[in-house]
Amino acid sequence: AAKSKQGAAYRVYEAKMNLAVMQKVELESEAREALRGNQFSLALQPQIEMHTGKLIGFEALLRWFHPTKGAISPADFIPLLENTTFMLELDYWVIARACSLTQELGHSGYRNMKLAINVSAGQFIDPSLPDYLQQQIQRNELAPEQICLELTETVLVSDIKRARAIMNTIHEMGCMLAIDDFGTGYSSLSYLKSLPADFIKIDRSFVSNITDDADDRNIVNSTVSMVRNMGMQVVAEGIETQAQYDLLCEFDCDYGQGYMISRPIPEQHIWSVLSTNVENGYWKPPQA
Ligand code: C2E
Ligand code: MG
Ligand code: MG
Ligand code: MG
Repeated sequence: AAKSKQGAAYRVYEAKMNLAVMQKVELESEAREALRGNQFSLALQPQIEMHTGKLIGFEALLRWFHPTKGAISPADFIPLLENTTFMLELDYWVIARACSLTQELGHSGYRNMKLAINVSAGQFIDPSLPDYLQQQIQRNELAPEQICLELTETVLVSDIKRARAIMNTIHEMGCMLAIDDFGTGYSSLSYLKSLPADFIKIDRSFVSNITDDADDRNIVNSTVSMVRNMGMQVVAEGIETQAQYDLLCEFDCDYGQGYMISRPIPEQHIWSVLSTNVENGYWKPPQA
């Protein structure tokens, strides 16, 4: 009886697995078609210097507008596509699109803007990443320091030695590196000092509580000091209120992004939004 019970449980488990696998395969083929059908685009979220409000650049965020399902969030489709060959293709498309937008920005008077690009685990360890990046930088006549790759702790800690080597290669090309969602992984602080990163991005989950949670406030305050003392710069993500912004300024956080400054801007609207919100290179403070 025990055996058949086990068998039944196994069959249920197997059915679930098949469903997950099927959805993944289906999603992958839909996504492939979507890329050919121009359903993917980027949204750019402005990043500003906290103390001055100077616009320094943007984070490129992937968007999928499905003709019948509507907007599909990257948080929903990226985990499912992770480790498929298509994810790699999509990741490279993001780099090409981001570099081409950066060139367009320069031609429209927004010179030397920095573009932060999220890199998936598979792309980070793909041997063609450095060459591809180099090629896109040259083709679009960019300075390498205009491109910043955002890596999550999860991408880095699986093989720290290899990660460090890849980071060094990308650094030698002159590109910037940021550790994304800092504080949410399982990594220890000691690994930080061994990584050649330029920016640490403090995760939104800490930022959102700094005005009413003393622990999060202390974590953010001391992370900012520590990171700066180590010679890196800090970006706060997910700034939604003036109170959060003011506290982060007080903590000497270098850069920030979030809904309070601007929501991610769909690429087709970038020109009109920039022309109304940027003056002499500074992001206009929101009307109180
Ligand atoms: P992330 O890199 O940490 O990006 C920040 C996320 O927070 C974005 O969500 C952004 O829209 C959102 N956000 C920004 N400011 C605020 C705010 O003030 N409040 C709130 N509540 N949210 C804010 P999004 O665009 O849905 O992207 C989710 C995640 O998907 C990203 O997290 C990143 O890990 C991944 N992702 C996005 N685009 C790409 C891409 O091109 N390639 C790869 N590999 N991953 C990407
Ligand atoms: Mg990011
Ligand atoms: Mg982030
Ligand atoms: Mg995040």
